[in-house]
Amino acid sequence: MSSEIQPYVFDPESEEEGEMAQAQSLPDRLSMNVSEWCTCGNCARMPTEAENVCCKETPPVVRRMGDTGTPVSCMTLHPGLEPVCLNLYSLQNALNIYRADYGPLRQRTYERRCRHLAYRSFVSWCWGYLGRKVRVIIPACVVLRIRREFPDTEGQYVGFRPALG
Ligand SMILES: [Zn+2]
Ligand SMILES: [Zn+2]
Repeated sequence: MSSEIQPYVFDPESEEEGEMAQAQSLPDRLSMNVSEWCTCGNCARMPTEAENVCCKETPPVVRRMGDTGTPVSCMTLHPGLEPVCLNLYSLQNALNIYRADYGPLRQRTYERRCRHLAYRSFVSWCWGYLGRKVRVIIPACVVLRIRREFPDTEGQYVGFRPALG
């Protein structure tokens, strides 16, 4: 388990979507080109300073990236990402674990619940951390991948999905 001190904490979608802790200690990445801080090639500029972090500069994530038969150049290419964080039955199980410890999950829409559980699963997988709130920085590339998997559907019919709540 990591003993690195995180420079700040960040709480993706744990309460209100888009409301995140402000970072203090990174250089001003919002005014930089993404290529100046991203070396995996899959990050993009995120709306708050705190979110502009690459998988390759996040030690617990780098450790997981080395934990594959063939090293991957970005965490979004890790073969474990889909089964652990994107598979709906894995998220269903993650919800049960969450509920047993903390009670109901508050996110209202199915997609928000998916994203929240995916972030939690990612953090527990890489950091070994399980608290009620997510308190580490998830790299931008991974956040974007999870958002792409579970976009808001605005109530449109999307076919069968296992119950999450
Ligand atoms: Zn990157
Ligand atoms: Zn990456």
